[in-house]
Amino acid sequence: MTKGALKKEGLMFVISGPSGSGKTTLLKKLLEKGFLKRQLVKSVSLTTRPKRPGERVKKDYVFISEREFLALLRAKKILEWTKYLGYYYGTPKDFIEDNLRKGSNLLLCLDLRGALKIKRLYPNNTATIFIAPPSLGALKQRIIKRSDKINQEELQQRLGLARGELLAKGRYDYYLLNKDLSVATEKLKKIIIQELGLG
Ligand code: 5GP
Repeated sequence: MTKGALKKEGLMFVISGPSGSGKTTLLKKLLEKGFLKRQLVKSVSLTTRPKRPGERVKKDYVFISEREFLALLRAKKILEWTKYLGYYYGTPKDFIEDNLRKGSNLLLCLDLRGALKIKRLYPNNTATIFIAPPSLGALKQRIIKRSDKINQEELQQRLGLARGELLAKGRYDYYLLNKDLSVATEKLKKIIIQELGLG
């Protein structure tokens, strides 16, 4: 056997939280600087939803058409997927498998369905983390602030989904309340460092 053939498989950290829970900002802060940035590779999902102002192509999402998404799904290039408010979202299979094989640790931002699927597929190297907003009122304000034009229907849909997602928080390995961004970032760092065995 060659030296290094037993390289340890990477770990996966799956972050979920209702739309507006602040998870995207939290992840950006987590990866901003410091040694965790070098320890984690962010998985970039495919989506058919339109790009929001400020989102970066291929950094936040790979934006594709529904036709392209369905072709990738048929070709089994998508590890897990969901449909959220009429749009498809999916995790690229090759990217995840290549990184795990190399021993890289991955950070994924998925809904409940995605988090449970990844945990089922990789039970021994997945940690699921739920990020909760301080309140539904705070969540509503964040959703409104972030979108340049959001209609009442979409707002009500996102809030309805958020209520459902909050009920599922007990199905995650970790629960994190995002009241103060710096405090929540530190707590998230601690969880990851501990799971990586670096603490
Ligand atoms: P948003 O439109 O707010 O960016 O995302 C909507 C929801 O889809 C969020 O809960 C987000 O975490 C989730 N999501 C994003 N990409 C994926 C993915 O590849 N798979 C799954 N299952 N959920 C995703």
